[in-house]
Amino acid sequence: MSDVATRLAKVETRVRGALARAGRPANDAMIVAVSKRQSVEAIQAAYSAGQRHFGESYVQEALPKIDAVAADAVWHFIGRIQSNKTRAIAERFAWVHTVERFGIARRLNDQRPAFAAPLNVLLQVSLAGEAQKGGVAPDALPELVDAVLGLPRLKLRGLMTIPPAGLDAEATRRHFRELRDLQDALTGQGHALDTLSMGMSGDFEFAIEEGSSCVRIGTAIFGTRG
Ligand SMILES: *Cc1c(COP(=O)(O)O)cnc(C)c1O
Repeated sequence: MSDVATRLAKVETRVRGALARAGRPANDAMIVAVSKRQSVEAIQAAYSAGQRHFGESYVQEALPKIDAVAADAVWHFIGRIQSNKTRAIAERFAWVHTVERFGIARRLNDQRPAFAAPLNVLLQVSLAGEAQKGGVAPDALPELVDAVLGLPRLKLRGLMTIPPAGLDAEATRRHFRELRDLQDALTGQGHALDTLSMGMSGDFEFAIEEGSSCVRIGTAIFGTRG
């Protein structure tokens, strides 16, 4: 087995362990293998080991990789979205985790090709105000949810967050719980959201125990980024 396959298997085992501790089914969390600044060879190794969901943060870097990997790979855009890159994102990705304002959502909607399924969208939420870069503030979230639901070429799937760096374990868990509560509140209002994107290499077990259904894991699968 390649190093990537070995590490991927370990991550899968840890994900299943966290799901079991949370009393959830073994397939209840999707693993997005974050391949930014990793080679096509490394991505191919993960693909050969059965991995299908891949996350990229930079459009220019991602496009040649998307071309190089088999067409049944599913690509998630997880980086900051610049408005001059929305067309490539709308055309080449299946998921976007980092929508934080309506102008970007509308561009993605307008640029999503007619032949493709609606683009799966997560709204990135900032729970720590200034300390956290990127994301919509919780009090502005309901309005953004309503606006995005009006865009027919987007499918709103849920919320995403990246905790600020340097939180201890308990603060990290609290952060994840807050996002979970926001998602539950929206679900309680009748919105059919099924995806909660939280957890990276350093904290994905906490995230799953707090309700994550989608973990974005880079270094624990691919090793240190080049
Ligand atoms: C890079 C990145 C990840 C993966 O980080 P690791 O610590 O390598 O697992 C996850 N989510 C986002 C948004 C990222 O930019």
